Amino acid sequence: MANSIFAKRVECLDESATFKYSALAKNKIDLTIGRTNFDAPTQIKEATKDALDGGKIFYTKSRGIVELREKILEKLERENKIHNLDVEKIIVSVGAKQIIFEAVMALIDRNDEVAIPDPSWVSYESIVRIAEGKVVWLPLKAENGFIPDEDFFSVLENSNPRLIFINSPNNPTGAVYSKKIMERIVDIAERKNSFILSDEIYEKIIYEGRHISIGSMYENTITVNGFSKEFSMTGFRLGYGACPIKEVIDKMNLIQTQSVSCATSFVQYGAIAAFSEDIRDYVDRMVSELRERRDFLFENLKEIYPILEKPGGAFYFFPKINSDDIEYCDKLLENGVAAIPGSPFGPSGKGCIRISYGGSEINDLRKAIEILKSIQM
Ligand code: PMP
Ligand code: GLU
Repeated sequence: MANSIFAKRVECLDESATFKYSALAKNKIDLTIGRTNFDAPTQIKEATKDALDGGKIFYTKSRGIVELREKILEKLERENKIHNLDVEKIIVSVGAKQIIFEAVMALIDRNDEVAIPDPSWVSYESIVRIAEGKVVWLPLKAENGFIPDEDFFSVLENSNPRLIFINSPNNPTGAVYSKKIMERIVDIAERKNSFILSDEIYEKIIYEGRHISIGSMYENTITVNGFSKEFSMTGFRLGYGACPIKEVIDKMNLIQTQSVSCATSFVQYGAIAAFSEDIRDYVDRMVSELRERRDFLFENLKEIYPILEKPGGAFYFFPKINSDDIEYCDKLLENGVAAIPGSPFGPSGKGCIRISYGGSEINDLRKAIEILKSIQM
């Protein structure tokens, strides 16, 4: 735009499509939202209230309270087999999104290449654009269940990325990557001396396959995780990042001290309760309910769209729709269903839509199916 009063970095930025379409979902069957409709665990809510009443209302250390980082450290070592960590190599922030933002700000200069699977969650590309990095899209195909194939690896092999984004279980496709796939990615990253940002926010929402943490195989990995999905705490705004290379976390912390300062104090204290054993029941119940929704949708959606396999994790389907995805979602909205067009998720998302079943019960999903079946384009 000529003579704009605004900086180029916002002129070339699109509004997050997940937020945009969620805002349009009022009074519709909402298949947009990237969250579940479960209440957060009582233990975490009680611990958060206790912290608030107990005077935990001041700034904390910018990296986060040590008690919480110790719990995270223990979890990453025990469950994810990520070694060479200590509490200074862990940073807590206001959501995984801010952690990703800080990682990109710390590592990417203008024109540095960043490899991003295509499609990917809408914010990866935008965050890289804010840093003026250069996105290299790694193509994925619906017919392969959006699992990396030879084309993906060939583009990765021919690029020179400073940073590679990996997200398994995946938003928007639900794909879960095997150990073999992770090993091939690590092999290329190692030879190119690239960092990997492993976004593991859907780690526990997995129905088939086993979650593999790249950080257990490759030191130059920033492991990102958070509380939003596993504990249905999107509004608490809490996530974390870890890297065995302390300088990476130090530099991310520089961005943190000069921007958000620290995550909300009482939320950090409350989140300690997320590491207690008795909370596993909550997650198991949620995952089992989500699995029912996924199975129900699979049986019905495959009659409408060319879906070959059940997505192994997260709470999304990303079917091809055989027409313009934006017009299709407009038409859905007119008919009472809100979903997100695929194009904001990357060039390969064109002609697809993202359907989230995290926020809707089977009754609503049933109604949505009837409407989806009736849409002719
Ligand atoms: N990564 C992925 C893949 C996501 O879907 C989300 C959605 N919220 C995030 C990161 C950010 O999560 P939050 O900031 O709520 O922790
Ligand atoms: N990640 C979620 C989604 O994909 C929540 C919104 C966002 O942070 O983009 O819908």
